[in-house]
Amino acid sequence: MKFKYLGTAAAEGWPAMFCECDHCKRAKKSGGRNIRTRSQAVIDEKLLIDFPADTYMHVLNFGLDLTKIHSCIITHNHSDHFYPADFGMRRKGFAHLSCDRPLNIYGTSPALNQATEIINKSLSDEKRVLFNKITAFVPFVIQEYTITPLAANHDNRCEPVFFIISNGVHTILYANDTGYFPEKTWQYLKTYKPRFDFVSLDCTSGLLDCRDGHMGFSTNIEVKQRLNMLGCTNEKTIYCVNHFSHNGRAIYDELVPIAQKHDFLVSYDKMTIDL
Ligand SMILES: [Zn+2]
Ligand SMILES: [Zn+2]
Ligand SMILES: [Zn+2]
Repeated sequence: MKFKYLGTAAAEGWPAMFCECDHCKRAKKSGGRNIRTRSQAVIDEKLLIDFPADTYMHVLNFGLDLTKIHSCIITHNHSDHFYPADFGMRRKGFAHLSCDRPLNIYGTSPALNQATEIINKSLSDEKRVLFNKITAFVPFVIQEYTITPLAANHDNRCEPVFFIISNGVHTILYANDTGYFPEKTWQYLKTYKPRFDFVSLDCTSGLLDCRDGHMGFSTNIEVKQRLNMLGCTNEKTIYCVNHFSHNGRAIYDELVPIAQKHDFLVSYDKMTIDL
């Protein structure tokens, strides 16, 4: 399984669109891995996770090939993860397709409601974008992948989930946006004991302590300890922190030495993990 981060920032991007703070200035000056776009990832170049406004930028600059994407799973309908206005670009005349296959979107009810409005308005009967409703703790299958949505500790109005994704050989946990996991999610992990080869954790608040809605690095360490205790991970599991806000203070270059001490990688745009 080949996992690739396309975007690794929280809603504002880093540097944030309109921000003049020191952390944005340092990121801009340092460039490279310190520059982050909005959240998106892709598995084996064919299963897309989230659909932010920066999707188009990922197509232009990061090698995302949407002609290979048949399915996209959505964590929740905040704009840094879900920008359904761009589904309208798939309509006849705007997109000339070699075969008339649909793009399948998988998300919870609030995303479904938002997408339906766009699909009805721009794509009417064309069936070029289909929405599939998913529910926390109910696994579903896309091609060779079994995907289990877990309940997130985040804005409840979005019915947010994060994902266990397995191809039968390797299993990953992709966990943002979420604070310290809700107890029902810990219960699920305790009962089913999935074994993770790779774990990606929300680190929106970076150096600040945060455990509700999002996490800071101190809470990431707690999550790692509990997953180890449950037997879901061990010393071979690759841990990586992801989804950063400039309010978390540490740019990529500053967070790497801190994360290394606890055996965490720090994500950056275009980073790939080969399992
Ligand atoms: Zn987010
Ligand atoms: Zn800033
Ligand atoms: Zn969010």
